Amino acid sequence: MAGDEINEESLEFSKACAESVLSKLEARSDKFYLPANIYGGDLGAALSLVRSTALFPEFAGQSRLLLTAILAAPKDTAARGVIDGVGAQAYAIAFASAILNEVPAAEKISDALRHQISARQAPRTSADLDLLHGLLGLCLAGFRLADAMARTPDSSLIGCAESLVEFVVLMDDRSLLAAMGCGASHGLSGVALAFFTFDRVGIHPAAAEQALRCLNLERHFWLQLEPTFDPKSDAERSWCRGTAGLTAAQIAATRTNIGISNIFSHPLEPLSPPQSPELLSLCCGLLGHCELMSRAANFIGDTSLNARSKREFELATKVFMSGKFCEISTIGLFRGLSGFLWTATTIHQGGACPSILLLE
Ligand SMILES: [Zn+2]
Repeated sequence: MAGDEINEESLEFSKACAESVLSKLEARSDKFYLPANIYGGDLGAALSLVRSTALFPEFAGQSRLLLTAILAAPKDTAARGVIDGVGAQAYAIAFASAILNEVPAAEKISDALRHQISARQAPRTSADLDLLHGLLGLCLAGFRLADAMARTPDSSLIGCAESLVEFVVLMDDRSLLAAMGCGASHGLSGVALAFFTFDRVGIHPAAAEQALRCLNLERHFWLQLEPTFDPKSDAERSWCRGTAGLTAAQIAATRTNIGISNIFSHPLEPLSPPQSPELLSLCCGLLGHCELMSRAANFIGDTSLNARSKREFELATKVFMSGKFCEISTIGLFRGLSGFLWTATTIHQGGACPSILLLE
């Protein structure tokens, strides 16, 4: 499905972003910056480039070579959730395989991931439920990779995911909220995002129910602070720690078939753009807001959200091009130039493409 195309100026800018990211990655190909990191490292930048070939097919060959080189680069691959280390590599390979029609380096990463998961024996702690840095993210990446390789997930991976669901089942609401807090990076929305994936691959009968529980716990937390559900600060509006993370989990929830009728009873109200004009990033700023609106448009069939997303993207490019201070200073994905490229691609595809903010 084609989206509302962004205007010529923003398209030109997005192409310049692609060229800039390409040339920076090529220039440091003898020593990549954080080659196992999706958030701010070169792995995320390369992933964004590969994904943007839908918009700029002329860069397809170079993008593919760069991603392959980054995946092969020497690196510390210790397990740290879904955004860094072996989990990030597994997720990136799975994500890229759908675009490249191949699964580069999958066997090696699949073995490393299995090894690291087997080493993480119970008992579980709340630190394991951190999506970006914990065992939960590692499991999510494992299922994504198994799916991309068309394999049945390994028994140690299934056992680990089940133990995480059971750990949450045993926690009472108050302890769960106190231990996890809010947002997608490290909070309850992140747990919900992972558990919805566990549910889709049929891991544990309670996975979807517990995902909804996490989602509702976080939602009630915000409602109790602010009955009209209008987050005030930009931190409260962010994906990582705030209500945009909750929105990501709500969008993911629409893909399950249990009890979703209430999910959008506060339809997208947490989708408030940041108030500070310098906040542009995918993680905390306007690009993340655009990305979620486009993805939501696709899930719930509200095309007006696509139009809003396009307008805000054009605004984000204007702010950046004005040369005023903003938080974008690297080529990274979650806080850098690659975020522009990522969101431009999403808008171009009308939100009909997997999003990193939903860890799809
Ligand atoms: Zn953030």
